[in-house]
Amino acid sequence: MRALQYVAPGQPPEVREVPTPTPTGGQVLIKVLAAGACHSDEFLMGLPSEALSMPLPLTLGHEGVGVVVELGPDASGVEVGEEVAVYGGWGCGRCRTCTTGAEQYCERASELGIRPPGLGNPGAMAEYLLVDDARHLVPLQGLDPVAAAPLTDAGLTPYHAIKPVLPTLVPGTTAVVIGAGGLGHLGIQMLKALSSSRIVALDLGEDKLAFAREVGADHAFTSDDSAIEAVREVTGGRMADAVLDFVGMQASTALAARMVHAQSEIVVVGVGDGAVPVGMLTLPYNVRVRAPYWGTIPELHEVLALARSGAIRVETETFSLDDAPTIYERMHARTLRGRAVVVP
Ligand SMILES: [Zn+2]
Ligand SMILES: [Zn+2]
Repeated sequence: MRALQYVAPGQPPEVREVPTPTPTGGQVLIKVLAAGACHSDEFLMGLPSEALSMPLPLTLGHEGVGVVVELGPDASGVEVGEEVAVYGGWGCGRCRTCTTGAEQYCERASELGIRPPGLGNPGAMAEYLLVDDARHLVPLQGLDPVAAAPLTDAGLTPYHAIKPVLPTLVPGTTAVVIGAGGLGHLGIQMLKALSSSRIVALDLGEDKLAFAREVGADHAFTSDDSAIEAVREVTGGRMADAVLDFVGMQASTALAARMVHAQSEIVVVGVGDGAVPVGMLTLPYNVRVRAPYWGTIPELHEVLALARSGAIRVETETFSLDDAPTIYERMHARTLRGRAVVVP
């Protein structure tokens, strides 16, 4: 089969011929219908070889949707022909954390060498994908595969970040979203659907701000120091009850820290070098700061249900497997609109 592989550090990924896998034990083989491209692929390919913690070549893709074509001898719970989304945050399935469905925080993953598809294990940007266990497959139930693929990460990650804050986002409150890109544009739609907060989006460039308003932001401002005054004005001086930072760089986390009041929450979601110092003299009292990762299996069911209800929609652009290397060139040049999805 053909697969998009990251072969050598610093080199662009290539489409290569690799053996089609056969499921053994409890594994399930799916024929890939759609695979989303993520900024973390680009992040990983930008790492120097000594910082790369996984063997190469690596088949990319941690946002996969497909149809079940073959079950290993011990696999059960799914049927051949069933369309499924792949939950990518693989864990052991048995530790205390995994039993809550939060396998992305598995207590034994590093000890057991368990890695997500596309981030250590062969990923979804290929004609076929081997899934380690049927419990990592969530039925699509009629969702379009291309629209559903990005939901497994670009949808699940903001949902996991936002869900714990929802009880505080009552009428009269304000949620600030920094970064209205792949994850942020879904975060805005989720806040719109699930909370009564005023939603303020911050990004750079008029096209990004217009996009944020289009998907549901009540206000959209340029993401620089001027945003602090803008947020003060629209909140009547109260500032934000929650700030969701989908950028995660120093400039954005510093901005987040200046937009909260006592007891607000800052959630750093973007993968970057940003940090929010916590201390009696650095933040208003009792501000909570979290840096969550990906999402849980039950939350993936919830995200897909939200998409089925029509409340969230992913902006996508599709590519063939042969054209997949160009995705990362365009991602680097920031010319992608919405999420790039490979249809093998
Ligand atoms: Zn990702
Ligand atoms: Zn575990």
